[in-house]
Amino acid sequence: MHNLLKKCPKCKNYYLEEETCPKCKERTINPNPPRFKPETIEKTVKGIMNKADEETLEKIINTLFKEETGTKKNK
Ligand SMILES: [Zn+2]
Repeated sequence: MHNLLKKCPKCKNYYLEEETCPKCKERTINPNPPRFKPETIEKTVKGIMNKADEETLEKIINTLFKEETGTKKNK
């Protein structure tokens, strides 16, 4: 369940399984960020909310927070 999230390099928005950004028609990339800030998560969730069903959304949030927790654990 990876590569669910896509990021547009142009407008920096996150999308769910979009090959191209609906706004800029720019090809999206896999974000794979080293860590997520809370505001990034909020932005991400907002960006994909209208597309994702609850289950998918939960998976994504879990993934994001797992990354956060993993960073904290590693002290
Ligand atoms: Zn875009």
